[in-house]
Amino acid sequence: MSGARTPAGKQCPICKKPQDEKFRPFCSKRCADVDLSRWLKDSYAIPADERVPDTIANDEGEE
Ligand SMILES: [Zn+2]
Repeated sequence: MSGARTPAGKQCPICKKPQDEKFRPFCSKRCADVDLSRWLKDSYAIPADERVPDTIANDEGEE
């Protein structure tokens, strides 16, 4: 470990590479496309990730 810190929200949610200002929050147009495809394909199985689409209904009061 080099001790380098990885600030949350500074990485591409798709591939975890550093974000590119032009494609934030992604690192490239490709990853932006990947994310878009996921949104279009609602049935796409999203792996465990800190990113949770707002399309997922939150059950209030259910803990
Ligand atoms: Zn990426």
